[in-house]
Amino acid sequence: MEILSDASALVSQVERLRREGRRIGLVPTMGALHRGHTSLMRRLRADCDVLIVSIYVNPLQFLPSEDLARYPRDLARDAELCLGAGTDLVFTPTTLYPQGFDTHVSVGAVSRRWEGAARPGHFDGVATVCARLFGLARPHVAAFGEKDWQQLAVVRRMVEDLAIGVEIVGCPLVRDDDGVALSSRNAYLTPPERIRARSLVGALQAMRAAASTESDAARVRAVGVDALDVDALDYLAVVDERSLEPVSRIGSGTRAIVAARVGATRLIDNLALPEPT
Ligand code: AMP
Repeated sequence: MEILSDASALVSQVERLRREGRRIGLVPTMGALHRGHTSLMRRLRADCDVLIVSIYVNPLQFLPSEDLARYPRDLARDAELCLGAGTDLVFTPTTLYPQGFDTHVSVGAVSRRWEGAARPGHFDGVATVCARLFGLARPHVAAFGEKDWQQLAVVRRMVEDLAIGVEIVGCPLVRDDDGVALSSRNAYLTPPERIRARSLVGALQAMRAAASTESDAARVRAVGVDALDVDALDYLAVVDERSLEPVSRIGSGTRAIVAARVGATRLIDNLALPEPT
């Protein structure tokens, strides 16, 4: 496995690989890797000749008030996990934006609500970094986790609208044994907070159970609100899984999404409603 930090070295490698007709897969990450990330790598490993993982804590997608400086970083451990999941090349630039960089990609309606409203500018940062990573790594296929359901929808919209020519693969959300969605930010939780963090998935599961006999989204949402034990609720909503617009009736293609703060840590989760058959 090779580790590159220089964008021009990546570009020349990718040019050679493309000339040789190799199928390139990319998993964009911010590091602090866990089984959620390696599930994306393993999924693409089976579907490409050369697997590239990027590790870059993208300043553009953090608000000034957010945790950019203290975001967990551990390249040696990350590299081991990448190797174990069959990665060929790790790209870890110190910066991704050269002097004079002045382009920002902004996706429309699908990026406005929920995470977009709670974290203004966040999805512009995500779309911009993905566009640049796609331009540098020129992957045939890229994997994103359903953990960040809205992000996946935003990236799909951008790729389609800008005809970027990358196949986007969505991968299932990976949970810890206690049901909590794996996230690099879980490392911030104290043990009592970790127990309360379970209430996010608990609320989603309670909503799924309610949705087996009740299709009114507001009533099902109320069941979820009751089950939450958090310090601040950003949103708990029942939405159309593609447009991310709220729905009033639960049916095929609806999903519950939640974002809440436990202690100082902001957590997100989501679940299909009703249970897919
Ligand atoms: P991040 O490093 O948090 O930006 O995440 C990089 C990629 O890993 C994104 O596509 C995430 O959706 C995905 N990811 C993070 N956590 C999980 C998880 N628990 N299950 C599945 N995918 C995940």
